[in-house]
Amino acid sequence: MKKIVECINIYKNYYQGKIEIPVLKDINFVMNEGDYTAVIGPSGSGKSTLMNLIGCLDKATSGSLLIDGREVGSLSRNELADLRLEKIGFVFQNFQLLGGQTALENVELPLTYANIPRKLRRERAEEALSRVGLADRMDFMPNQLSGGQKQRVAIARALVNNPRIVLADEPTGALDSRSGAQVMDLFEELNSQGVTVLMITHDSGIAKRASNRVEIKDGVLGHLEEN
Ligand code: ADP
Ligand code: MG
Repeated sequence: MKKIVECINIYKNYYQGKIEIPVLKDINFVMNEGDYTAVIGPSGSGKSTLMNLIGCLDKATSGSLLIDGREVGSLSRNELADLRLEKIGFVFQNFQLLGGQTALENVELPLTYANIPRKLRRERAEEALSRVGLADRMDFMPNQLSGGQKQRVAIARALVNNPRIVLADEPTGALDSRSGAQVMDLFEELNSQGVTVLMITHDSGIAKRASNRVEIKDGVLGHLEEN
């Protein structure tokens, strides 16, 4: 099996003025290609911090992080941005859609950053929205969509670059149970198509559906039982 994410002895400290606050402590963690891993743990334990590191949105204080076999610690900001565009899709609890843009334009955004020509951009964004069941909502603005629909737009945006890894930070946290279940079905479908999924969740029912589970408590990562 191919390792797609590998954290080796990762530490992350934040600074409050001059005071150093240790947040992640000696994290060792591997995801193989095609894994679906749930991260659980209390609020403030470091889950989002870990996700931001793995998503190359932030850098570790020490330790080594390999994405698809490549050590990312030494990459420049531009190289990190390229790596994110090429390999990683993000989904957040609060959707993070641009309010002034249609569903289609929101999904096109990563392709704009990747300098894909306009016509191809549109085609791929339409395809991604169809994949999440929103072919009939392409021209809607975010405020004309339900929470579940907004999250599906965000998932389409995460998918439009055909990423190898999708990182989701409590993607059902703001949804009612029915919309949440639809969103979870989508992640399972993506995973069955070969996308590696790392999902932070508070919901133990959701975590049970993943193929692996890890828990973070006070910045320390532990592995839970396998399915
Ligand atoms: P979780 O996602 O598990 O709720 P976080 O990873 O967001 O936890 O936060 C872990 C800890 O790191 C918390 O104590 C939080 O206050 C602290 N923290 C997070 N981001 C920052 C930051 N930018 N500066 C300082 N402290 C931070
Ligand atoms: Mg969090």
